[in-house]
Amino acid sequence: EPVVAARGVRMSYGDTQVLHGVDFSVAPGEVSCIIGPSGSGKSTFLRCVNGLEPVLGGSLRVLGEEVGYTLRDGKYRLWSPKRFATFRMRIGMVFQRFNLFAHQTALENVACAPIHVAGMPADKARELAVEHLAQVGLAEHAHKRPHQLSGGQQQRVAIARALAMNPTLMLFDEPTSALDPELVDEVLEVMKKLALDGMTMVVVTHEIGFAREVGDTLTFFDEGVVVERGAPAELIADC
Ligand code: ADP
Ligand code: ADP
Repeated sequence: EPVVAARGVRMSYGDTQVLHGVDFSVAPGEVSCIIGPSGSGKSTFLRCVNGLEPVLGGSLRVLGEEVGYTLRDGKYRLWSPKRFATFRMRIGMVFQRFNLFAHQTALENVACAPIHVAGMPADKARELAVEHLAQVGLAEHAHKRPHQLSGGQQQRVAIARALAMNPTLMLFDEPTSALDPELVDEVLEVMKKLALDGMTMVVVTHEIGFAREVGDTLTFFDEGVVVERGAPAELIADC
């Protein structure tokens, strides 16, 4: 079964429809890149995938479950907040803005969710946090606070923080768009390594080079629908 399977997904903010029937899927271990103009609904779709926005039509199955609804007695019922929370624990999300806790060290940022959300003993969580920081090349910076780190380093902490919950699926929403150009590559390198480790990833990005080199599939969004989808090498002309 696909990790993500969307069919005809619709979503509106109030009266404004933003997704007009998105068809999309991701197989286990696939790196799926999404490209498209600003405002085409890429971010909204990612937010639907991890249940941050409600799907208002069509079907969206993620990790084997219909997101947000349970079918019982032939009727759909919305999930409880608790069920959403449990569901989201299996999905790591990395945003354009790093959203780290400013008053915590890198290590504390990474260990926070395992301790407070998953109930892991603090010693164990801190031990694992060191490993996850090493995985993104920041073992030596574990005790620094965000303001002592570059934007690229902060984003790598954000990736380590998402990995700390041992997710089955990682979502990236323009993870390098807020970075100075010279800091982009160090973040893309970490993502490439994750991909090679077999992580299932959906990556909204403007980095065509990354999409071509690392992506297994490439999907173009425009005005709330998928307008093209295929192998990156076929869709991106060599430059
Ligand atoms: P993209 O990620 O492709 O730039 P978005 O999903 O962010 O696109 O936005 C799609 C459309 O939805 C845009 O027109 C945007 O202004 C609108 N939109 C996004 N978030 C909200 C929101 N919270 N409330 C109302 N409209 C929104
Ligand atoms: P992105 O393109 O990465 O989605 P945006 O700058 O479009 O970023 O949006 C930043 C934030 O503002 C998001 O949380 C989005 O949901 C919200 N937003 C975007 N457009 C609108 C809108 N028209 N009304 C209300 N909130 C919006």
